[in-house]
Amino acid sequence: MKSWSCIENCGACCKFDLHDREGVMNKLNRSDLILIESMTCKDGWCKYLDRKNKRCTIYESRPHFCQVDKFSSSFKDYLKYGDKFLIDCCKQHISSIYGKKSKQMQIFKITTSNK
Ligand code: SF4
Ligand code: SF4
Repeated sequence: MKSWSCIENCGACCKFDLHDREGVMNKLNRSDLILIESMTCKDGWCKYLDRKNKRCTIYESRPHFCQVDKFSSSFKDYLKYGDKFLIDCCKQHISSIYGKKSKQMQIFKITTSNK
């Protein structure tokens, strides 16, 4: 069985377009949305992402909705499908940001299949 794991130097989920993430938006309250707005640069990327290295610069204090291990349990599909749901979400993000054949996608597939 495949297990979800975040990979280093990715950050594909750190670009926000909540219109594309209806399922996520429904889980956020008003203060979360205000926080997201304050974190988002004009081009959609989170201002806390070190873009060169694709690393979160506030990792230890990142918002609750960035903490996949905690936030995931609020999704019905996670409770039903477990890590498969998370893996599919990551693949969607990686594909839309870097492409289906990107280095990040290859690394992600290898990482999740080796568990
Ligand atoms: S898209 Fe997935 S693998 Fe990439 S940074 Fe986000 S959680 Fe990690
Ligand atoms: S706070 Fe960190 S994990 Fe959350 S979107 Fe920004 S860079 Fe990504």
